[in-house]
This record gives sequence, structure tokens and C-alpha cells, in this order.
Amino acid sequence: MLEVRDLVVAYGAEPVLDGVSLSVAGGALTAVLGANGAGKTTLLRTISGLLRPRAGGAALDGRDLTGLPVEEIVRLGVAHVPQSGGVITELTVEENLRLGGLWRWRRGDLARRTGAVYELFPPLAERRARAAATLSGGERQMLALGRALVAEPRLLLVDEPSLGLAPRVVAQLMAVLRRLCDDTGLSVLLVEQNARSALSVADRALVLNLGAVAAEGAAAALAADDRLRHAYLGF
Ligand code: ATP
Repeated sequence: MLEVRDLVVAYGAEPVLDGVSLSVAGGALTAVLGANGAGKTTLLRTISGLLRPRAGGAALDGRDLTGLPVEEIVRLGVAHVPQSGGVITELTVEENLRLGGLWRWRRGDLARRTGAVYELFPPLAERRARAAATLSGGERQMLALGRALVAEPRLLLVDEPSLGLAPRVVAQLMAVLRRLCDDTGLSVLLVEQNARSALSVADRALVLNLGAVAAEGAAAALAADDRLRHAYLGF
């Protein structure tokens, strides 16, 4: 449902992404792996319209996203959860969730959607009236994902949700992403430095290195490739 082709993105003279192509199937979880500075965040920011490519572009179900304003890309069903989540710490859990759907839903539908998120992440339901500042790192990441899901996106772009979290919490978050794909048909593009966790739930994966795709394939095949794991994945 998402096609990225020959993407070239630069902040200065040197391209940070230099001819990156990938596709994400409907209902599939695709992991984007690679070291610090490989260009993973830049890839997500370009797909969601925050950065303009020098060349190439992205299309959603055949509709070219290149050059569209961010709000139009959001309206087409793309949600972006940035690194470290971006929740508003002064607002309550409930207020953060409602913000995710205000542009889209009337009151009743908004309540239905926030209710679905509370079912997905029970710790948020218990803390709904608390300020987001009081949440643990894992709960904040749940809130960031939940806020994106309230809008019922078709494609979720998630930037390093595991950052700074305990392994048990990371495993829970990964399992939720997997379940969302299987149960709701959501497509997920998951950027991770924690390659082992991401590959454990992904259908397919690609490895970015110095702005280019160094490897691409079924997640299980990449995880079983010793040379690749040692060279790029760190496990
Ligand atoms: P990380 O996991 O550290 O976020 P990444 O793979 O997501 O790494 P990017 O954040 O996309 O990598 O950065 C790729 C390259 O682009 C890096 O060399 C980075 O220094 C550079 N870069 C990122 N953002 C900017 C910016 N706003 N201006 C200039 N250079 C940037």
C-alpha cells in the first residue's frame, strides 16, 4: 500500500538518503533497521511530508504523496509517532488521546476510539486523569502510539519506540504492533535500532546503511543471516 521509490533527501550538499526504495504491503509490519545516522528518521519524516525529497517520492495506494501538505497526508491515513513520542506532558492521558482524533471525530466517535486505545493499553485506562508527565517511559510510548491510533490511520510510521525502555516493555509494545497489523489490517513501518526485537515481530525488514538499502527481505531470513547480523544489526 506504500511505495517509496528512488528517494533522495539532503539537508545540505550531501544526500542523507540516496536512492532508497521500499514497499509496505497492506496489514504488514515492515522494519527499517540500521545504525545511528543511517537515515531512518529522515525516511519517516519524508514519507509524512515533514521533509521534501530532492528526487523520488512516496505513494499511498497509488496516490503520490510527494509535495502534499502534511495535513493532507495525515488525512489520507498516515500517522507518524516521532522518536520519544512527543506527548504533551502538561495534559492528561485522556486529553492527549483526544487530541489525536479532534480533527476527525465527533464526540461519540472520539469516545469510542479512545475506549479502543484503553482496551489495547490497560495501564493508560488506569491513569487516564493523570498528567502525562507522571507516566513511565513505557506508558508514554503507549500514549504516543495510542494518540496516533485514535485517528484510525491506515499506515503507522513509528520511530524507535524501544528507546530507553526495559526489554519486557519493549516486548509488550512490539506485540501490540503485531496484533494491530493482524487484527485491524493496519500497515506499520517501524524504525528501530533494536534489530532483534523488531525482527521478532516484523514480516519484512530492510537495513539502511549510509543512506542506502544494504539488505532487504523476509524478517526471519535477515535474522538468520550471520554475516548481516554481525555487520549491521549488532546481535
Ligand atoms: P538516529 O537513530 O540517530 O535517529 P537515523 O538513522 O534516524 O539515526 P537520521 O536522523 O535520519 O538518522 O540522520 C541521518 C543523517 O542526517 C545524520 O548524519 C544526521 O546527522 C543528519 N541530519 C539529520 N537531521 C538533520 C538536520 N535537521 N540537519 C542536518 N543534518 C541532519
